Order: sequence, then structure tokens, then C-alpha cells
Amino acid sequence: MYAGDLSWEEFQNAKGKPAILVFGAIEPHGKHLPLDTDSIIPWEIATRLEKRADAVLFPPLNYGYVYTLRKYPGALSLTSRTLHTVAEEIFSELFREGFTRVLVIIGHGGNTGPVKSALKELSDDFDFRAAVVEWWKLTEAEAGHADEVEASLVVAAGHELRAQPVQEPRKDYMGAVVPAPDNLFTSSGYIGKVGDISKEKGERIYSEVVGKLEKLLQNDLLLEL
Ligand SMILES: [Zn+2]
Repeated sequence: MYAGDLSWEEFQNAKGKPAILVFGAIEPHGKHLPLDTDSIIPWEIATRLEKRADAVLFPPLNYGYVYTLRKYPGALSLTSRTLHTVAEEIFSELFREGFTRVLVIIGHGGNTGPVKSALKELSDDFDFRAAVVEWWKLTEAEAGHADEVEASLVVAAGHELRAQPVQEPRKDYMGAVVPAPDNLFTSSGYIGKVGDISKEKGERIYSEVVGKLEKLLQNDLLLEL
């Protein structure tokens, strides 16, 4: 069920079920994918999961902490401190309401640190369990940035490619270099392979990821690897 659809009485009755929360971003994704890519994919995962699980899906936060792609237009970022604070306040409200199991689906890598540190700090004051999951860690497919994996997932979520991507060169560097070198991304702003984009591939990855998350919920957010 979706929390925003419930009356307060229905919401009251839903307490005790696990909560699902999505942290997305608005960020450039090559010339071929929409700025909302890192919000579209985790939301699609979350809505498919919600149909199969007895859980409450909460409204997403679709602004995140964006750093590496700021030289392209369309990186509308919160600071990491603001994201930490917003996450802390959303989580403490959920805990105050009595939701003590929270599955967090991360759609954008920059969000993970601030969201996790907010939860770690709250664990001194509230009794809860949260699992913070980056969706790309749950698939065998190797995901880059705006590559064929993300593109296939965007297409399978019902969106069209904005352009046909062409394979471009880029360089890899040891360590996290700050500021990011100019050729860390291709000139159009992606990382990875772009030759094999299909709805079928996206569907395969959605069922792989959603299946694992369903298992995680069934195991009270504590699943041994
Ligand atoms: Zn992305």
C-alpha cells in the first residue's frame, strides 16, 4: 500500500508493517536518459515490490546529493549535510509513528553516505532496524552510469530514450579523485557499455532485484549472504 493514499485511520492500522522509502536524485545521465533516471529506477523497483509485499511505501525524496556530474546542466543537488538532515527528520518521524522496520532503496550513489550516517546517529535514540540497499548491488549485471543497464531499466519503466547513445571512450583512475577528472565520464556524460539496451533486459533486472528485496522483507530485513 502507498502511504499517501491512506486515511489516518488506515495509516494507524498499517503501523507494524515494514516501511519502504526511496532516495532518488536529479542528475545528468548522458544525452540518452532523463535527469530523473536515478529516481525512476528505484521508484519502479519500490512500486513493483509493494505489489508483492505486505509493506507501506512512502513518498520518495527525488532530490539527492549530486557531485561528480555538476559540470553538465541539470545536476540539482542538495548538500550532503542537508540530505543528512532531511533523511534524519523523515526517519525520526517514521519511528515516532511506530514504523520500526525500514527498507531504504537508494537510487543514486551520492545519497548512501548521508542516509546511512543519519540512521547511525538515530540508532542511539530509537529502537529500529533499517536496511539501506543500493539497487545496483543486487544484480549480476554490472551497472555503470547511464549505461545499458540503467537505460534498459528506464525503458522497461515505460520511458523512451532521448537519443541513441554511441560508444565513447573514457579513462579509469585509481582511488576517488577529487575533483573528478574531466574524462572520468564520456563527453556526453555516461560510464559503461551502451550497445545492448532493451526492455527485456530491464525486465530481467527488475525481477532479479525485486525478488531479492522481497526475500529481505520476508526475513525482517536481516538476510545472511
Ligand atoms: Zn544513474
